[in-house]
This record gives sequence, structure tokens and C-alpha cells, in this order.
Amino acid sequence: MKKIAIIIPCYNEELVLNDSYQRTHQVLSTLDICTEIIYINDGSSDQTPAMLDQIAATDPTVKVIHFSRNFGHQPAVTAGIHHCDADWAIIMDVDMQDPPELIPEILAKAIEEQAHVVYCVRKTRDGESWFKRLTAKMFYRTINRMSEVAFPLDTGDFRLIDRKVMDAFGSLKERGKYIRGLISWIGFKQVPFHYNRAARLAGETKYPLRKMISLASKAMLYFSKKPLYLSINLGFFAFLIGIILAVWSIMGKVLGYSNAESGWTSIIIIVIFFGGVQLVTIGVLGQYIGILFDEVKARPEYIVESKTNFDEKIDASK
Ligand code: UDP
Ligand code: MG
Repeated sequence: MKKIAIIIPCYNEELVLNDSYQRTHQVLSTLDICTEIIYINDGSSDQTPAMLDQIAATDPTVKVIHFSRNFGHQPAVTAGIHHCDADWAIIMDVDMQDPPELIPEILAKAIEEQAHVVYCVRKTRDGESWFKRLTAKMFYRTINRMSEVAFPLDTGDFRLIDRKVMDAFGSLKERGKYIRGLISWIGFKQVPFHYNRAARLAGETKYPLRKMISLASKAMLYFSKKPLYLSINLGFFAFLIGIILAVWSIMGKVLGYSNAESGWTSIIIIVIFFGGVQLVTIGVLGQYIGILFDEVKARPEYIVESKTNFDEKIDASK
């Protein structure tokens, strides 16, 4: 019999966890295939770990992975995929922004269209600030222009992936994973599913601006070399200005229209300009060197403290 798993990362979600489990469980019980939920406790410091253990004790189809500390949303989802042996997996937020009631429709779409990925596109986003909506919109459009792979617009990690995609994902060696990008990169038939994103059930977003910027820069740096080309272009541009200024000053001396002693302002401007161009260029290089540094260290993306309700044979210590 086929099996579907729901992968749900949780970080300090005591306010929504029980309601979220009830709703998801309710929907799963209407499906006539095997189902399971894989919760990843991403180093929560509230009641989340205890609540998850309690749910897993009463429901053997709930599996729990506890991380040794907070590693972040992307490593948590990665761990879920590594530990999943189902035929399909759906990645969701625990806060019910991605309504579990859509699971049967998403699965039906995957089967009907024989798709390996069904990615959920946000038609609307309730309960999110205009700032988050605007920055998200700008981000998805910018990354799409920068990246060498085409990403669907306004699409988060809420999506269905099948066994083939999970296996391909498991073979990826890079540590800094921008999951939605990598799934686009993997390929196979991918189809959209449009939905209205709900507001968070309760509690605060666990993605403050700092984490959003870090996710966005990961996407840029891992999926595009354009920042490097931009800095080369900037260098050429500065070089051109340098030549024009050089010609202008020499001609000024020869033709007598410039008075060299009064050149303080122009010297300061040129020094600051070229200094700025050099620092920006070094900064861009530095970002890529930082990635090389992290990837060469090859530390695991997450450390598992304990697992509940898993078969011994699934060892995903990748
Ligand atoms: N999350 C996580 N680790 C983190 C931050 C978030 O596992 O360090 C989980 C969180 O519990 C939620 C999902 O990732 O299930 C998405 O986070 P959130 O809903 O706060 O982000 P938003 O939807 O506001 O972008
Ligand atoms: Mg959310």
C-alpha cells in the first residue's frame, strides 16, 4: 500500500501544536492510503518537545526527530526528507498557514497529472505585514532573474514531492540547502497548485527579518554567480571613469583649463569612489569564500538527539 508522509518542522510552537496535530490527523484519516506525520523539533525551548513526545506516545503514525539545538527551518525540513521512507511527502508549516485540508487535493493532483512535484503557489497571504509581502514579492522576482534555474514565483516550501525527488534530494552533498530552489533544480514534472495562504493560528513568526535576509542571501549565493559578474562590471565602470578623468586632467594641464592645486575635492571623491568599488568587490568575493569555507568544513547540517517511532532500518545519518 502507498504511503504519504507530512513533514512538519517545529520551533517553539506550543501555542499551535495540539490544534495543528488534530487538524492534520483529521484530514489524514480520510485518506485510504498509509499516512504518517514526521515532526522535527528544531531545538525548541518551550513545551513543544514534551507535547510532541506525548502525541507520538498515543499515535504510532507520528514520528518525531529531536535536534540537539536550533539548526533552522531548512535543516529541519532536510532532516524530515532524509528520514522519510514514504512514496510522497508534503512539507508544511505547523502554524496552519498551509491548510492541511488541501492535502487530499494536492495528492490527487500529483496522481492525476503524474507529477513528481506539486508546488503550492500563494494566491493571497493573509495576516502578513505589507512589508513581508512586498519584500517576499521582490525577493522571488529578483532571485528568478539572478538564478541559473527558473523558480516558480510566490512559492514557499509547502509542496508535495515524490520518492524520486526525495532520493535525488538525498544525494545532494551541499550543506547550505535552499530547499525550494534545489527541488526546482532537481527537475522532473512539476506542477503548480494555487491556494490562499492563511494567517498564523497563534504565536509569533519564527522567521524574523534577520533569518529572512539570511535565507534570501543563501538563495542568491548558492544559485547565482551574477554578483561576481556584477562586481567585475562595477570594476570596469570605475576603470572607465578613471580613464575619462585621466584624459580630462592631462588635457587640462596641456590646454591650461585646469588648475591642479585646487583639485582637493576631486581627489577625495575619486579616492572614496574607488575605495568603495574595491570594498564592494572584495565583499562579494568574501561571501563566496565564506560559502567555500562552510562547505569545505563539511559539518553535518543538523545533529539528531533522539528519534521516536522510527524503524531501526531507516538510518539517515547523512
Ligand atoms: N521553524 C523551525 N526552525 C526555525 C524557525 C522556524 O523549525 O528556526 C519552523 C516553524 O515552527 C514553522 C516553520 O518553520 O513550522 C515556518 O516558520 P514560521 O511559520 O514562523 O515562518 P513564516 O511562515 O512566518 O515565514
Ligand atoms: Mg508560518
